[in-house]
Order: sequence, then C-alpha cells, then structure tokens
Amino acid sequence: MTRSEELYARAVRVAPGGVHSPVRAFRSVGGTPVFMTGGQGARLRDVDGREYLDFCMAFGPLILGHGNEAVRAAVIGALERGWSLGTAEPYSLELAEFITSRIPWVQSLRFVNSGTEAVMSALRVARAATGRSKILKFEGCYHGHADAMLLRAGSGLADAPLPDSAGLGLLAASETLVAPLDDEAALGRVFEAHGAQLACAIIEPLPANFGLLPQRREFLQRLAKLAQQHGALLIFDEVISGFRVGFQGYTPLAGVTPDLVTYGKIIGGGFPVGAYGGRRELMELVAPVGPVYQAGTLSANPVAMCAGLAMLRALDDGGVYARLEARGAQLESEVASIPGLVMQRVGSVFWLCLAGDAEAARRSRAQHAVLRSPAHYPEGCARRYVALYHPLLARGIYLAPSAFEVGFICAAHTSADISALATAIRASCAAAA
Ligand SMILES: *Cc1c(COP(=O)(O)O)cnc(C)c1O
Repeated sequence: MTRSEELYARAVRVAPGGVHSPVRAFRSVGGTPVFMTGGQGARLRDVDGREYLDFCMAFGPLILGHGNEAVRAAVIGALERGWSLGTAEPYSLELAEFITSRIPWVQSLRFVNSGTEAVMSALRVARAATGRSKILKFEGCYHGHADAMLLRAGSGLADAPLPDSAGLGLLAASETLVAPLDDEAALGRVFEAHGAQLACAIIEPLPANFGLLPQRREFLQRLAKLAQQHGALLIFDEVISGFRVGFQGYTPLAGVTPDLVTYGKIIGGGFPVGAYGGRRELMELVAPVGPVYQAGTLSANPVAMCAGLAMLRALDDGGVYARLEARGAQLESEVASIPGLVMQRVGSVFWLCLAGDAEAARRSRAQHAVLRSPAHYPEGCARRYVALYHPLLARGIYLAPSAFEVGFICAAHTSADISALATAIRASCAAAA
C-alpha cells in the first residue's frame, strides 16, 4: 500500500469521496488519488516523496507556478500585519484600483471568496437591474455550483447525466435556459422566444470546463448584439480566462465588452478570491449603495488580497504572456505529429483530445478545424484519456484527473518541461495503441 492509498482509506470515512471538490477523487480516471504535500515551481511532490511535472496547476490559479517568490513575500507581509480584519482596509483598495485602471469595462467591483460566489452575485445584479428572472447559459459552460447554473455545466459534471445535480430548487432550474455554443441560429430562436424575459446571458467567452472550446468572434458578437436588443445584460465569466490569456482576459479577443464580468482563480494568487464587476451604475445596485444584498465575513481577506496584487503586478508587464504563448506554441508543435491527437490551445490553456488513430484525427480536423462545441468531439475521446492518464502519471506527469478538464502551462515551466510532457504523451499513446 502506498501512503496515498493509506490516506485515501482514512479520508473516505470522514469526507464524501475523501475529497472536498469532486474531480480530486480520481473517479473519472479510476485508481486512488495521489496525495500531494506541496509544490515548487512547475513540480508537485506527493506523500511518498515522488515528484511530478504539474500541468493542472491547482486548476488554473497558479499561472506563476508553485511557491512564487513575489506572492510568498506579499503573503508573509500580510500575515505579519494581521490576517483578518473585517474592516475597511487599504489592500482590497489597491487591488481594485490595479484592476479597474487596466480593464476599462470594470469600473467598480466587489471581492468575494470564490468564482461560484462571483457568478451568483452577478446574476443577482442582472436580475435586479432588469427586473427579469430568466437566465441564458450555454451547453458545456461551467459557472460554479450555484443552483441556477447546474445545467449542462461540464467540469466535474461533464460525465454526469442530466440534471447535473440533485437537490436543486425547482424554480432555480426552471428559470435557466440552455443554448448550444457556436450556433447563431439557435441563439436567434432563444432570444425570439424568451428575449423579453431574459435578465442576462452568461457565457465563458473562452469555454474551458468541458475541454477547450474557443468561440468565434462572430458568435460572441451576435450574442452581445441580441442581448442588447432585448434589454438583457451580458455577463462574461472570466474565472479561468481572466488574467490567463492576457491581463484583460478573453474580452479583447471577443471584440465585445460585457456589462458584468466575473473573476476567480488567478485573481487571488492561489488564495480563495473571486470578484464581480462592471459598469458603475450596475455595481452601485449592490449594498450598501443599492438594494442587492451581498456580503462576506472573510471577503477581501488581506492575505488573499496581497497575494492577488503580487500576482497581478507580476503579470502586468506582458512579458509573462509572451513567454507562456511561446511555451504553448512549443507544446502544440511537439505534439502535432502524435497519431490520433487533436490538441486545442489558446495561449497557456490546452486540451488533449484523443481522437483515436491518425485517420480519426484527420477526419476530426477536416470536419472541424477547431472544436467549438461538445457536439464536435470525436467519439470516445474521454475513454482514451482515461487509458492515457495512469501511464502519464507513472511517467511523472500530473494532469487534471478528468478527460474534460484543461491543462495549464505556468511561467515556471521550462522548454525542457514542455518537451518532457510531449515525449511522455507520445510514449503513452504508443503504449496504449
Ligand atoms: C472555476 C470556475 C468557476 C467556479 O469558481 P470556484 O472558485 O471553483 O467556485 C466559475 N466559472 C468558471 C468559468 C470557472 O472556471
């Protein structure tokens, strides 16, 4: 028995599935989850002392890698001053000014403790602003675990049958409409039928919770246009893409700006932070100025605020993004000749889609140069990921333990680390074939 196996046997007795977020339990790849003790740079270390090259990166927050010096120093400073104040304080002010001065469509924002909270709160603002209750979301987009968002949501739910969760309030689910990605005609029909009741449309402008599904600008622009015409707000959920594909997230690439935006993951430097923001008059609907109630005992926690600020300062010069893009391009070119693999990538976010053999990959590419909707996925890709997962783990590569989670490259990954990943994928694919 490994130490991980011992710990897992104890963990399942005191927590559902032994974990505190479902994907971590390895259910979709099988086997026992590896218990990690820590990480440094691009590497994770497990309880048996083994090292792994990490391409999960805590599911996205660690864009600078584990143990980044600037973040560490900021956290230690905050600890020394006092780690919870429950008062007005200068740290959230600095972080809010830093963000609003660089992202013009975020004039005002509110910090919360997770992406889920950010989304819940943004939806509440949208409903208050419009006096309407229906919400439009998209198939395969994940927006955290608020009741209204747990329909065809991807992420840890990608393999689950509909509905995505038990225990949802009937009303919550009945007020949410779900439209397919990449389909302007369907969009037109939804707005025609329900546009007058829609408080908002919410979308990940770069959907990255059910594989990686880059959307066409035309599709996002059509959505923005329809929302505007029907008096519904547009919410971009940039919890993954914010500060990841560029400091301003995916919005500049979409060519339209949202009314409200949600952040999480990177914004807290690896600590629990989320934020929602947008036009000032919308945000001033929030208490204590307006009638939308939203609060948090630990919101804008100084340790998390200082970690986030250190992280965003390090990202601000743009050099990090150029480096991440170069590493991403390197990975793309090194895996290009692996038979049966169709890689989707935007900057430092990638997804390994295993089409099968070379002919299946060719067919997939001929049909869809870019996969933009779960409907485009080659049959059996999830099953093939499962077959690849443990051989990769045995070679010291740690990927997210689910076929539909994306991979993340961080600033600590060297060119040699990228080559090691490509080599391990090639060897594992060959062994699996
Ligand atoms: C991770 C994620 C969330 C939820 O954030 P949590 O911090 O896990 O609550 C919401 N939206 C998107 C796009 C995400 O990737």
